[in-house]
Amino acid sequence: MDRKSFLKTLAVLPVTAAAMKLHELRPLTDPLPNTQAMPVLFLGHGSPMNAIEENEFVTGFRNIAKTIPQPTAILCISAHWETKGTFVTAMQQPPTIHDFGGFPKELYDVRYNAPGSPDLASKTKSLITQTEVGLDDKWGLDHGAWSVIKHLYPKADVPVVQMSLDYTKPAQFHYELARQLQALRKKGVLIIGSGNMVHNLGMVEWRRLNETFGFDWAVEASEKMKQLILSDNHTPLIQYSSQGRAFQLSIPSPEHYLPLLYSLALKEKQDSISLFNDKALAGSLTMTSVKIG
Ligand code: ZN
Repeated sequence: MDRKSFLKTLAVLPVTAAAMKLHELRPLTDPLPNTQAMPVLFLGHGSPMNAIEENEFVTGFRNIAKTIPQPTAILCISAHWETKGTFVTAMQQPPTIHDFGGFPKELYDVRYNAPGSPDLASKTKSLITQTEVGLDDKWGLDHGAWSVIKHLYPKADVPVVQMSLDYTKPAQFHYELARQLQALRKKGVLIIGSGNMVHNLGMVEWRRLNETFGFDWAVEASEKMKQLILSDNHTPLIQYSSQGRAFQLSIPSPEHYLPLLYSLALKEKQDSISLFNDKALAGSLTMTSVKIG
């Protein structure tokens, strides 16, 4: 039955039956309205100590959360979960993972007890056609997720799902995969990439760990990245390994950089974009974070 003859049929049906028919028809022709698209974040997470310290970056995380509508759930792509293949955490209650060594006991005592969301995990799996997404029941929340989300949502009342980085895949793959997550933004899901744009642990000035300064190459790469981000020029960012020495020193391995590409891939033309926590730290790190939308 086409739309015209359907409407004609409705016209002759008693009111209640017509209402029932409309109700039945709704999922097909008039899907429930989506929410306004949620913003997307990239968070420079830096040291795990940010989880328990008070500093300007933690304040930046808290402040940004105040500008975002309450999410229905969070999907976090963390630098600290690399796998062969792509996985999402699908457990009801993800454990807090302390995936680091040599920090004070206070940090190991942190538990971030946000629930998981098997529903969001399966939705995410069904949205992604680029690769088979596995449902994981062994991971949880690593510090790339909880050390920052803890400041955004201290009550741990927003369910969190993590998605892993497939270390066998090139940057372009990650960017394209992320684009398939777009629909989640309109279901109230806050997508967070968590890493660091400039991240060279081998060159950190450990004695100046809390000082906001960057080596020349770190500042050069950071400035170029920001210019490309703010002008929506993503191709050179995806092709980061051919952007010269400053980029090579800033991205000696891809895991802290790739979450940025996940966030940028979700930017639509009409989305605004802004930076916060935009500082270099300890010479070879940047905390620069991005809000899209
Ligand atoms: Zn990290």
